Amino acid sequence: MARYIFVTGGVVSSLGKGLSSASLAYLLQSRGYKVRIRKLDPYLNVDPGTMSPFQHGEVFVTDDGAETDLDLGHYERFSGISAKKSDNITTGKIYSDVIKRERQGKYLGKTVQVIPHITNRIKEFIKHDVAKEDFVICEIGGTVGDIESLPFLEAIRQFSNETGRKNTLFIHLTLVPYMKASDEIKTKPTQHSVKELRSIGIQPDIIICRSERSIPLDQRKKISLFCNVSIEDVIETVDVKTIYEAPISFNKEKLDERVLKFFKIKTRKKVNLNPWKKITNLVLNNKNKVNIAVIGKYVELKDAYKSLDEALTHGGIANNLKVNLVRIESDYLNPKDIKNKLIGVSGILIPGGFGKRGTEGKIAAITYARNHNVPFLGICFGMQMAVIEFARNRLNIKKATSSEFGPSKASVVGLMSEWIKDGKKFKGTDKDLGGTMRLGSYEAKLKKGSLISKIYNSIKINERHRHRYEVNINFKDKFEKKGMIFSGLSPDLKLPEIIELQNHPWFIGVQFHPEFKSRPLAPHPLFSAFIKAAKTKSKKNAKS
Ligand code: GLN
Repeated sequence: MARYIFVTGGVVSSLGKGLSSASLAYLLQSRGYKVRIRKLDPYLNVDPGTMSPFQHGEVFVTDDGAETDLDLGHYERFSGISAKKSDNITTGKIYSDVIKRERQGKYLGKTVQVIPHITNRIKEFIKHDVAKEDFVICEIGGTVGDIESLPFLEAIRQFSNETGRKNTLFIHLTLVPYMKASDEIKTKPTQHSVKELRSIGIQPDIIICRSERSIPLDQRKKISLFCNVSIEDVIETVDVKTIYEAPISFNKEKLDERVLKFFKIKTRKKVNLNPWKKITNLVLNNKNKVNIAVIGKYVELKDAYKSLDEALTHGGIANNLKVNLVRIESDYLNPKDIKNKLIGVSGILIPGGFGKRGTEGKIAAITYARNHNVPFLGICFGMQMAVIEFARNRLNIKKATSSEFGPSKASVVGLMSEWIKDGKKFKGTDKDLGGTMRLGSYEAKLKKGSLISKIYNSIKINERHRHRYEVNINFKDKFEKKGMIFSGLSPDLKLPEIIELQNHPWFIGVQFHPEFKSRPLAPHPLFSAFIKAAKTKSKKNAKS
């Protein structure tokens, strides 16, 4: 039977619950257990698909086509397990399910209430689709004390009652601040947060204390005493220099050992931390670096391109290099200023995006990459921009655009007409925006002998998608005559998936998001190849 580990957060948000859960998953897996990680989000959106990245950071896409919280990305990258649709739930989804059932008359005339109907639905979600897992780690979004989180906390309290206290472990992650003025570490916020949790009926078993500096024994004792946990279960997590250090640091603090002790499980295997030690060392101490420009609309918010930033770092790991990201806000990128802005840059990346704002800056940067042999990777929107740039400057379609920006006779990128998944036909729409894009893993066929097929070392790939618009396949011949090759297509040959330039050292656009599948311990080939090309370019620049 699976054991359940619930991770809640207290005092403030952004303490790293996702990373803690992901690290714990790795440690348990490494000891030979099968683990699943889930996220319960307390907001009212059905999923984060329609939220602005400024609100919520990146939207992470799973193989089975769910638009989910970015923490699922952490989970995948650390545990290596591909997340599923069933691993992320929101208040919005829970309520819409319950209301749908109510309309179908499934509650047999009863008054539908938060307790038990909403809490029952939450419990169903926690348990469903769990088979051979030894552990299910459930992270509860938000902070204890928020009105929104209450039904989730109530549900996990009930869950532990029903499943058995010995099968349910509560971990509470809090902030233990350091006060400079008095040179003291303060435990009071943690005490209050735990008090709040206990008032709901949840006694944490392990408290993870996030702190700037190591917590002295006296303060640990205080937390243990006031929060009613044993001193060994007060676990500190001092800020790490790189996230890859997190599994090492949690293991040093014996988090995995305490978890197994709680469940009275004898340790099967020793944890293997060598891969993390290796990449931590590499990321922190590598002297060689390349500068990569990431030109997008949301660069000011670090989390907006989380998986992408990670994938680029992984590309660096594969090439023994540190990747220095030069984030350029496309909206302020004046085409006349491109050269200055890109001094010292050895690779240009245009990530996924939506809407017209900032596109002219992106297009100008693509012209620069194309004309100056700078390695270029365009992802989703970035590929669409590369096609528009080529149409304007090489095919002489001066007004080339995307129908995403309004009706035009020169749309080389248009609303997706139709696509097929699992034998069913889907149609593009720009009316109903939630969950209606072409989402999740789709196959692409690669052209033999193309650069992309060499990179993947295959002519058939599967990658994750999230788009509503597509490059118009009818332009294929015109583009190819001028040297932009459509080197990857959907199996029915209707949707362009990849473009590349013939007379350029490394210029690739992909309609999918390779960044979602890159992992620190298994860097994605496309990012490894991109960084390798940037390394070559930077050597050339140094010589000239
Ligand atoms: N806005 C574009 C589309 O919907 C690109 C989306 C993306 O980059 N993820 O097709």
